[in-house]
Amino acid sequence: MSSDPADPGDDLSEVVYFHGRLWDSPAMDGARQLEHLVVSGAHCDICDEPMLDQVDDVVLFPRLTCHLECFLRSVVGSVSHLKKECWCFGVETEFDPTETYREGAKKVLAYLLETGGRFKKTA
Ligand SMILES: [Zn+2]
Ligand SMILES: [Zn+2]
Repeated sequence: MSSDPADPGDDLSEVVYFHGRLWDSPAMDGARQLEHLVVSGAHCDICDEPMLDQVDDVVLFPRLTCHLECFLRSVVGSVSHLKKECWCFGVETEFDPTETYREGAKKVLAYLLETGGRFKKTA
């Protein structure tokens, strides 16, 4: 083990990695960029759809490998929740039963980008 706390040394188990764009949030502080997914086509732990090297924003936490949008949805909730238009706020919500978790998660990402969320600039 290295004595520098910022340097994980050989112990990579506690490091957050990302592939694609880096979301600007404290959860991503210190995240390291992967140029390519180690296993392209591995399935997202949240939505169970494949993660693809060419197109996806992916985050790899020590115990969670997932699409960025799925991570964001799991943390902040659905768009209707963000708009306070869901059951949590006493509003009867209509669900589209054909919409997958990830489709909803992509809407969350778009909504966050519209309302102040952003990607960090990476070199
Ligand atoms: Zn996913
Ligand atoms: Zn809600």
